[in-house]
Amino acid sequence: MPESGTQNEIVVQGIAASQGIAYGQVFLYVKNDVEFPSYQIDADKRVEEIARFEQALLVTRQQIQKIQAEVEKNLGNEEARIFDAHLLVLEDQALIAETIREFEQTSKNIEVCFNNVSQRYIKAFAEIDDEYLRERAGDIRDVAQRVIQNLLGQTGQNLARLADKRIIIANDITPSDAASIDRSHAIAVVTDSGSKTSHAVIVARSMRCPAIVGMRDLTKRVKDGDWVIVDGYDGSVIINPAEQTLFRYGKIQIQKRGIEQRLHEANRQPSITLDGVAVPIRANIEKVDELQLVKDNCAEGVGLFRSEFLYLHNNHIPSEQEQYMAYKAAAESMGGDSVTIRTLDLGGDKPMAGNPDLFSVEANPFLGFRAIRFCLEHVDLFKDQLRAILRASAHGKVLLMYPMISGAGELERANAILDECRAELRRNGMPFDEDMQVGTMIEIPSAAATADILARKSDFFSIGTNDLIQYTLAIDRGNDRIAHLYEPTHPAILRVIHNVVAEAHKQKRKVSVCGEMASDPVYAALLLGLGVDELSMTPPLIASVKYLVRAMKMSDARALAGKALKMESPVEIYAMCEQFANERMVME
Ligand code: PEP
Ligand code: MG
Repeated sequence: MPESGTQNEIVVQGIAASQGIAYGQVFLYVKNDVEFPSYQIDADKRVEEIARFEQALLVTRQQIQKIQAEVEKNLGNEEARIFDAHLLVLEDQALIAETIREFEQTSKNIEVCFNNVSQRYIKAFAEIDDEYLRERAGDIRDVAQRVIQNLLGQTGQNLARLADKRIIIANDITPSDAASIDRSHAIAVVTDSGSKTSHAVIVARSMRCPAIVGMRDLTKRVKDGDWVIVDGYDGSVIINPAEQTLFRYGKIQIQKRGIEQRLHEANRQPSITLDGVAVPIRANIEKVDELQLVKDNCAEGVGLFRSEFLYLHNNHIPSEQEQYMAYKAAAESMGGDSVTIRTLDLGGDKPMAGNPDLFSVEANPFLGFRAIRFCLEHVDLFKDQLRAILRASAHGKVLLMYPMISGAGELERANAILDECRAELRRNGMPFDEDMQVGTMIEIPSAAATADILARKSDFFSIGTNDLIQYTLAIDRGNDRIAHLYEPTHPAILRVIHNVVAEAHKQKRKVSVCGEMASDPVYAALLLGLGVDELSMTPPLIASVKYLVRAMKMSDARALAGKALKMESPVEIYAMCEQFANERMVME
């Protein structure tokens, strides 16, 4: 990890993933399995050891009640109810009595005894043939971890409750961690691992806060409370910045804010190129509470609703009714603008914790049991979601799309299940839009290669470039070691997109891009030049893409793409696209 700096100031370089500058104190979030020593307790210390256990249970209880009260205040009653299950674990007399029995028999320190017993419970619950009880395994794991941390005198961490404005520096942030981030207090997100398309970054972008990934071992070099600058433009973190550095960054921040202000003023204008081509720009969202952000950023509806976040939030499988309420809220709040709901995309980089029966550990999760593959094997869960989406279509302009389709067979099976859902709703007299459009995400090379076949069976395409790039170039999108090889301007990517668009257009199907590529003005012109009809992105990034659209001619973008398709070097293609964007994004 390169570094430089003056006096006590240390500059550490990573990969810039979300723009912006933040200055503040570090909240260090290092997630490891809690490690604890194993030792014998002398006979005369036994009473003390049991008292230590009771004290840890008491402290844990107080901590959980405090979190529950805060969650209730900030997120509502329903979200807070999850902690009831955690409190019940702490009251479980069998678990407590068994721990004490194990202690009396082995004389091992209480951490070891409690861990042994709770692991047995976790295993037993995980194997039960009842969904509700199986979910309790996750609760026991969480609570056990907390009790052991308290026994060791460690403070537990939680991204959902930051005491004040903080810069999160983490070794890793899972999608469910990301879903729980305290959005009112996090001012930047920095991770040792990860890539530009990891979900922590997607969340940071939706919060309009800077993010940097690929910092390798930064978490070992900063402490909780250290003061740092996060420069999300060039990907550096400055630990203990000197006075003159703070001054320089203060000036940059004022300048950037001015530009942002002007971009947002221009954002109220329609998204039309100088030569009169309309380019709908829609929003990517994960939760219903982002709908206001969609409106504030003048998106023409939602182009990607990542529905799996309803599942990842609290690790709970939502019922048909719960999903219906969320999708209906989105449809209603967008008025006549469309809302494209993507069916469940769990697995891969989005595993669902606490459900080992649904998702087992896989050697290659990105090539494994995820998204549509999972839904086609869990038809009941899938049908709950499809019915919920269909029912929401009675309340606005709803579109549905399937993620990770690899070929026509999967698409046909998914559509057959959708037809069954339509028939069920008709039988029950429940209204839905009979003409709801159903699209296919193009994220896998085999889908791109069979775009002609898929276009005949789809109403539209949405290209998920985050995955399409990782699968085409064989670059794990979450692996910082090879992040430099993740090149959206690789000639292979240009050709794949060009071919998908051509096949779709032959059959009069529209093509959107909803991967991160769409949100960067440098790539946006290239995509539009390749024939892409619509773009969808995290709301705060709409303003700069719309600014470019309004400052360019589509004919120039087509010429740019035509030239790029003949070039060989990703770096040279990038430089050409960057120049195209820079020449048009001048703001005097
Ligand atoms: C994509 O792959 O580009 C996409 C939009 O889906 P996700 O990032 O959720 O995998
Ligand atoms: Mg994807």
